[in-house]
Amino acid sequence: MPYTEDTLEALRKSSPAQDEFFQAVAEVLHSLRPLLDASPRYRAHRIIERIVEPERQIFFRVAWVDDEGTVQVNKGYRVQFSSTLGPYKGGIRFHPGVNAGIVKFLGFEQIFKNALTGLALGGGKGGANFNPKGRSDNEIMRFCQSFMTELYRHVGPTVDVPAGDIGVGTREIGYLYGQYKRITGSFDGVLTGKGLAWGGSLGRKEATGYGSVYFAEEMLNARGEGLEGKTCIVSGSGNVALHTVEQLQKMGARVVAVSDSGGTVHHEEGVDLELLKEVKQVNRGRLEEYASEQSDARFIPLSEYPEGGHAIWAIPCDAAFPSATQNELTLSDARTLLENGCQCVCEGANMPATPDAVGYLAESRIAYGPGKAANAGGVATSQLEMSQNASMRQWSMDEVDRRLREIMKGIHETVSEAAEEFGASGNLVHGANIAGFRKVADAMIDQGVV
Ligand code: GLU
Repeated sequence: MPYTEDTLEALRKSSPAQDEFFQAVAEVLHSLRPLLDASPRYRAHRIIERIVEPERQIFFRVAWVDDEGTVQVNKGYRVQFSSTLGPYKGGIRFHPGVNAGIVKFLGFEQIFKNALTGLALGGGKGGANFNPKGRSDNEIMRFCQSFMTELYRHVGPTVDVPAGDIGVGTREIGYLYGQYKRITGSFDGVLTGKGLAWGGSLGRKEATGYGSVYFAEEMLNARGEGLEGKTCIVSGSGNVALHTVEQLQKMGARVVAVSDSGGTVHHEEGVDLELLKEVKQVNRGRLEEYASEQSDARFIPLSEYPEGGHAIWAIPCDAAFPSATQNELTLSDARTLLENGCQCVCEGANMPATPDAVGYLAESRIAYGPGKAANAGGVATSQLEMSQNASMRQWSMDEVDRRLREIMKGIHETVSEAAEEFGASGNLVHGANIAGFRKVADAMIDQGVV
């Protein structure tokens, strides 16, 4: 049995019921086969066995009191996966579906994504099975305070620097930061995605979405094309999706659909971003409200798509940006996209495509940007926030955006070259996995058996 198969088999036994983690590892190991054959030293140093095992996992109780005075208990997680290239870095997700397998898959992806940025960042991820939907500001604050009361002892500006993810935005980062500061008495860059008045960086909230669009533009430029004038769809309507829409519109593309967990909005004239922001960010409401304000927009509720709500992928487009969540795009969705003429799929979310969809898209001749590469702009800009905090400076939006663009261009070059080197020209899934892994693995060998 090949080396990677052995490792997968052992992992399936030692990490049962962690399907998403297993899925993420299987994809990376599949890509690595030619590299492992060409460089036996990775096997000799047992890099694969070490890299799939988090350096440390912290699971904790988060007890808090809701507005009715009822005690609530949630599970909190921080997985410190790899500190090979820098402090552990990665977001915190608050979502009822969070469990150990989800946090491990996200932390594992983060190792390679962070390596691809070219910056000094290790990989980690955290979260809680807490559902922020429908909770009052005070409940969110009490939850965040309780969460940080445990987390503070495990983080630090050169140790582990969490940020936001699904369910964690500037409001939650604010409450987490306030509590960290109250406990430690130290105003330092222990979290990124902070508010602009208290250590945040201009451009951080835009960065994942903008970066994904810059990555798509790089992929299309390499084929002598660009996003201008293209028809696009963007799944999701959270922070990543909204800023993807924003940058696509700036570049002269037309976004005709967005979605949320209740359904899809199809607006052929082009999505009204101001209204979308009003509904989703200001009112924290449902997408259905967008359609009730815009008579020429059509709302397709999830109930009309009982098989998982993939209505958005049936809307014809030139470029698709899966920017909602894991496994939101199946093989049949990918086929529908391509049948309808889609030439570019660029992932703003983490692992949004199922394994067979990844295989299909990577083998197709379209421009396919895997999340590890395409959505790395968020964490890269977090590192820019860390740099500004360490030097007690604040850069302009133009400065941050210029650096973000450069970083995305660099990632595209790195992953394209790695794909080419291993005979998989244009397959950026293989390119991203190989280039990210090689950087971490070489540094692990330099640092000895730890
Ligand atoms: N949660 C984001 C990601 O998936 C950002 C992480 C960060 O900025 O640390 O990459």
